[in-house]
Amino acid sequence: MNAQNYEQNMKKLFFGAIFIFGSANLMAQCNPDAQSIDSWYNWAKSWQNSAVDYFPISIGDEIIIGDSIHAQMSSEYVLDKKYAKQDYLDKIVKRLIANTKRKGIPYKIHVIDDSKTLNAFSIAGGHLYVTKKMVDYTTTEDELAFIIGHEIAHVDNRHGVRKVQQSMVGQSLFGEYGTLAANVSLLLTQPFGQIDEYESDREGAALVNKSGYDVRKGLRFFKTMSSQENYSTIEKMIRTHPYSAERYTCLEDFITNTLHK
Ligand SMILES: [Zn+2]
Repeated sequence: MNAQNYEQNMKKLFFGAIFIFGSANLMAQCNPDAQSIDSWYNWAKSWQNSAVDYFPISIGDEIIIGDSIHAQMSSEYVLDKKYAKQDYLDKIVKRLIANTKRKGIPYKIHVIDDSKTLNAFSIAGGHLYVTKKMVDYTTTEDELAFIIGHEIAHVDNRHGVRKVQQSMVGQSLFGEYGTLAANVSLLLTQPFGQIDEYESDREGAALVNKSGYDVRKGLRFFKTMSSQENYSTIEKMIRTHPYSAERYTCLEDFITNTLHK
């Protein structure tokens, strides 16, 4: 097809994705086997993924983009570059990434100098972040590996890089309206974020299990963390990783019926 038709088709795809999002006023549901998730949502999400994959980003570019986002993170958060337990964290990361699907990503774990907030997150290109409070809150290496494994799974399954691709879709198709489109696409990632969380729960648990850690210890820790902490402490963790009893049940079901079958 010629360039003009291509562009028109891409616009249809993108508007279609927005339309579907607007119509599908549903919550993602339990998907221990990746099939039973609400079909509407799953379909819309895979469709959105196909649309943004028209703007592929190579691993080399993902690393460059990730490094520039990390530079912003470094100014937003106080990172402890001489953290006493850095070697311990690096060792866990090294053990986990031996079993990732996408190779060539230079994973690096950064410690945020925050002893009050339980938080962990990741961005495209393999930058992982964890607060000191999170490290100190875990009592075993299995628990910490479970948290880190979940974050690696976000990167390994391209959740971070797809967010970058979505903003590229906006910039490329809408020209001067690109900023607006990028904002819309950010909104789009919110409900689908729940699907990403389910996927990282499963893939992270599989990664931890394959790397020889006790995945059930991690699961128990997840539950303890959510039930014992007061809301103000776990607020940020909940914001980036919305916990629900359903999510826990899904993961437990996946571990029992798929990983440990
Ligand atoms: Zn997550």
